Amino acid sequence: MQMNFCSHCGQPVRLVIPDGDNVQRHVCVACGTVHYQNPKIVAGCVPEYEGRILLCRRAIEPRLGYWTIPAGFMENGETTQDAARREAAEEALAEVEIGSLLAVVHVLHADQVHVMFRARLPAPQFGVGRESLEVMLCDEAGIPWDDMAFRSVSFALRRYLDDRRNRVEQHHFTTIDFRRQPPG
Ligand SMILES: [Zn+2]
Repeated sequence: MQMNFCSHCGQPVRLVIPDGDNVQRHVCVACGTVHYQNPKIVAGCVPEYEGRILLCRRAIEPRLGYWTIPAGFMENGETTQDAARREAAEEALAEVEIGSLLAVVHVLHADQVHVMFRARLPAPQFGVGRESLEVMLCDEAGIPWDDMAFRSVSFALRRYLDDRRNRVEQHHFTTIDFRRQPPG
């Protein structure tokens, strides 16, 4: 991500490789602070109620109008499970019980790691959160695969359904890199 000014002292930064490092960093010309940039973690879950999956249609960019599972950026001070539970509460007004780890998706072009869990929705109680246009419980045949918001979500959902059919709960890993392999 491009950075122009030091968030510590407000002076300009330059892109240089610091001594003892091997990656270009934004380094402040005045105070010398090195501004490291690292991937962000997105946490989400696949909530299930009696065989049906809770899906949300996004009310915000990116991918406004497309379907997703509840997921979003982690906050400081919470675990990935906390974050996944909070996102389900915010986007689908659903109180879910987080289960086992489902998928870790490395989204290299976005500098993100998506961590997806299985989850149980104890009762069919949910609503439309501020970041959603619509929320639905959907059986496998009704999943709008052509209108999914993100590749990582489709991956997690497909692995979820495969595992459910096979009565296993595996951990799945994959990498998505549109820098080399554009979408489409
Ligand atoms: Zn500075």
